[in-house]
Amino acid sequence: MIISLVRLPADGLKFEHRYVAGELDLRDYDFELERPPVVRGRVDRVGAEMRLRGTIEAALKRPCDRCLKEVALPVELPFDLLYTPEDPGGSRTGEIELHERDLDFAVYQNDEIDLDEMVLEQLELGLPTRLLCREDCQGLCPECGVDRNLESCACAAPTDPRWQALADLKKKFENK
Ligand SMILES: [Zn+2]
Ligand SMILES: [Zn+2]
Repeated sequence: MIISLVRLPADGLKFEHRYVAGELDLRDYDFELERPPVVRGRVDRVGAEMRLRGTIEAALKRPCDRCLKEVALPVELPFDLLYTPEDPGGSRTGEIELHERDLDFAVYQNDEIDLDEMVLEQLELGLPTRLLCREDCQGLCPECGVDRNLESCACAAPTDPRWQALADLKKKFENK
């Protein structure tokens, strides 16, 4: 969805959009959608810039980092972004470079804001660095590949030196 800024009222504009399945192009992104986003917010003019704020609600879908099972991840993400008009002359490059270090900054052109792009970027930024189907997910056996949450296998448990150190420590405490 595109928000047109051409007739933006002086006191800003409210918007709400419910995406339908397939409406967003996820090809460049690292997740799928369990439930398409609902985005609500408002646009206000702040000098030459546009302030866009609101919330995005959706449920993402990504494989568990350990066992690869699909995990649904409901999210509710607030956003508060400043859009600067694109400046083809480049007279304000310095300012734009300054802004670019800030994640909450974007550029708009032709008096339009591309809401789809904003929503996708916010969802991507909102992804957790680690996603597990459950805290104690046993993962896949590195030897034979069985899902250890569902079945056990006869492969020897690999001894990770870090776990061994922990086990030794635990033994020490228990012996006290
Ligand atoms: Zn898992
Ligand atoms: Zn195995």
